[in-house]
Amino acid sequence: MKVTTYDIQRQMPDSNGRFGPFGGRFVPETLIPALDQLAAEYELAKEDPRFQAEMDGYLKNYVGRETPLYHAERLSQQFGGRIYLKREDLCHTGAHKINNALGQILLARRMGKPRIIAETGAGQHGVATATVCARFGLKCDIYMGFEDIERQSLNVARMRLMGAKVIPVTSGTGTLKDATNDAMRDWVTNVRDTHYIIGSVVGPHPYPMLVRDFQSVIGREARAQILDREGRLPDYLVACVGGGSNAMGLFYPFLQDGSVKMIGVEAAGEGIETGRHCAPLSAGSPGVFQGSASYLIQDNDGQVAPSHSISAGLDYPGVGPEHSWFKENGRAKYVAVSDAEALAAVRNVAETEGLIVALETAHAFAYLHTMQEEHLLKDDSIVIINCSGRGDKDMNTIVRELHLV
Ligand SMILES: *Cc1c(COP(=O)(O)O)cnc(C)c1O
Repeated sequence: MKVTTYDIQRQMPDSNGRFGPFGGRFVPETLIPALDQLAAEYELAKEDPRFQAEMDGYLKNYVGRETPLYHAERLSQQFGGRIYLKREDLCHTGAHKINNALGQILLARRMGKPRIIAETGAGQHGVATATVCARFGLKCDIYMGFEDIERQSLNVARMRLMGAKVIPVTSGTGTLKDATNDAMRDWVTNVRDTHYIIGSVVGPHPYPMLVRDFQSVIGREARAQILDREGRLPDYLVACVGGGSNAMGLFYPFLQDGSVKMIGVEAAGEGIETGRHCAPLSAGSPGVFQGSASYLIQDNDGQVAPSHSISAGLDYPGVGPEHSWFKENGRAKYVAVSDAEALAAVRNVAETEGLIVALETAHAFAYLHTMQEEHLLKDDSIVIINCSGRGDKDMNTIVRELHLV
């Protein structure tokens, strides 16, 4: 089958980057020209057949696309229906994040910017960014909270091995939110020669749109693959939601298919009622964070509240503005599962399918239990779960929590 990895998206945010009441640009004045330049370059690039061919080539031969759509027969026997997994865990670097990092570095090259910055929490986006910077020979500075540097030392080593500089952030709590602030400050100062690679469908316009478009390769492939295999569209799409990029990438190409139900699974952490979660769509409220308006976890004064999840990649207090819009207009449904449920799902998927999935990804699998309890899975129901990443990076946590050694 031909790998059609990149095409023109018709569904745009309005000219201010608004998805209904969400999105927009809440940034210092000095960044507006850089955001305008990025938006303009992207418009040119997506009409440029050479850019598309280049992107297709790297996605195929470097990232390893197209990724399989795998019929998980034993999970299907267990839960009912016909359950398929979109195998983003088989992408180079072990998750979907490389799809976006690749698209953005090709844009940075087109804009003639020799330096890349990014922020990272768990280190997965940092690793994807360091990877493409090494591949294209661009200078790479990654901001990371000192707490996270300690917790995620293996990813720090991976970034350094590929030639990136990891800059420890000591302000605030030394985690992702603080790293984001420092990266933003760096960008304001160095915007002429620096591109900021944002890792999810968040941030000021045009980021939510362009990250969505670069990740939409997931849904385009899955749509063609399921039509090929089953001769019809799926009933359900299920994906975990941190910032929301793997979910948006899967959902987006099915947007016009009214029969396809979309479910985004957030992290309920220790339980929504404990306040120790990161489920802004399930339990947050609208506000402004990281340059755009969206749902987020905040206290009564509008301060971003600390989030918690066993999965570092979901431990983020905000969510992409287009997801907030889908929640509001009902196009997608958002639910949350706990740390304990996600851990149980890691074990179950490992035992039934021989797949060790990331803790983030496990949240999507955990929702199968609810679907079963609510009798949503009929014999002929078709479900696609986005298998966003593999679990090697989480083995320390998994070993500890499941008492494996
Ligand atoms: C980072 C990450 C996520 C969460 O990010 P989204 O933008 O919500 O996709 C999910 N799964 C894996 C494997 C990740 O590395």
